[in-house]
Amino acid sequence: MYIRVTEANEIEYVAVVTKCPICGNGGTFYHLTSKDLYLYNQGSAESWTVGHRVCPNPECRAYLFFCQPKYDPLVTFPALRIDFKTENIPGRIRLCLEEAITCHAEGCYIASAIMVRRTLEELCEDKKSKGDNLQKRIAGLKSIVVLPKELFNALDELRILGNDAAHIESKEYDKIGKDEVAVAIELTKEILKSVYQMDTLVGKLRSLKKS
Ligand SMILES: [Zn+2]
Repeated sequence: MYIRVTEANEIEYVAVVTKCPICGNGGTFYHLTSKDLYLYNQGSAESWTVGHRVCPNPECRAYLFFCQPKYDPLVTFPALRIDFKTENIPGRIRLCLEEAITCHAEGCYIASAIMVRRTLEELCEDKKSKGDNLQKRIAGLKSIVVLPKELFNALDELRILGNDAAHIESKEYDKIGKDEVAVAIELTKEILKSVYQMDTLVGKLRSLKKS
């Protein structure tokens, strides 16, 4: 593959409309004074526009690089991440899920799945939920976690929570992709919210009532 590089026309800046990987707000990112680069492969119709932009949120102004392939979705560096509110979440659990989210953002889905699993292991440890395997330990959380029964049942269907003994060797892990890990992360966030953050919300509501 032979890639040619030219400067993209200054007037035709690519509109980089995305969510900010740093502050989480969405918008059309500002371009800087330098031009974007236009890369194309002479042997095919493939092309990419690459450049840098600044977050439009005046309180953020994060700087990012982007690559807009002609046929594929926009890619940014730093990568977009699943948002995660960490208020009141114990340190070890928070670090595990943050690492899972970083792995997911960087396209390392098996590593992300392993960290989601570890997050849940840490949660069960913290809440002293016992059982032979992770599924049983999570089931033990039912008495302290306020989650719709359907969500608990859906947890059983996640391959991430499959056979404990063989989970590292399991071929099932090889089939885990972006969407499944994203769902697992979202579910884990809901569980953590219920366990550690619901009280904070209730407290805030009560303090509003008093004032
Ligand atoms: Zn931002």
